[in-house]
Amino acid sequence: MTTMERKAGFATPTVTRRGVACGLVAVGAGLVASMPAGALAALPIPRPPYRSLTIDHLAIGERATARFWNRGAYDPVEIAKLCRLFRDRRTDEVYPIDLALFELIHDVMALLGVDDARPVELISGYRSPATNHALRGTNSGVARRSYHMRGQAADFRIAGVPTIAVARAAKRLDRGGYAFYRGSDFAHIDTGPPRTWGRTI
Ligand SMILES: [Zn+2]
Repeated sequence: MTTMERKAGFATPTVTRRGVACGLVAVGAGLVASMPAGALAALPIPRPPYRSLTIDHLAIGERATARFWNRGAYDPVEIAKLCRLFRDRRTDEVYPIDLALFELIHDVMALLGVDDARPVELISGYRSPATNHALRGTNSGVARRSYHMRGQAADFRIAGVPTIAVARAAKRLDRGGYAFYRGSDFAHIDTGPPRTWGRTI
C-alpha cells in the first residue's frame, strides 16, 4: 500500500465517539480494495487469501481474532473489531487504525514463519493526546508527536517468539519506524517514515 493510497482512505482521521470511529476505516478499506491488482504486490513475502490477527490487548484484558482480509477484500466488520482492540487503554477511545499497520504486523509474522493464529500481545495501540501526555510524564521514551496518536503505531510482542526477532523482522521489511525495548520486552513499529532509535539490533 503506498502513501497515496493510504491518504485516499485516511485523509481525515478524527477522534470520534467510542465504537463508531472505524466507519472511516470501512471507507478507506473500500478504496484500498478497489485499487488495481498489484498495488500490494511489491512485498517480499507471500500474501495468503485470508489474513487474520489475534490480538491480546494485555492492559485491557481482551482478546479476539479478526479475519481482516478475506478473499481479495478488506472486511470492515473485522477491521472494526481490530480497531476496538487497539483502543486507548485509559480512555477507551476507538480510533481508525491505519490498515497498513495491521498489514505490517501480519507481514512481520509471515516473515518469521509464525502462523497468524499466534496471539499478538499488544501493550499499546492507539493513544489519545491525553494518554500520550500522561505517559510522557513518567517515561522519557514517549514522543510528543507519537504515531500512536495517529493510529499508526503498535507496541507488542508475539507469544513464544523472541521480541528481538520481531523487531529485526520489522527492520528487514523497512516499511516504517521500529525499535526494540529490551527492558520491557516489546517491539514498537509504526507506519511513519523508516527510522529507528535506541538500541542497535
Ligand atoms: Zn510505541
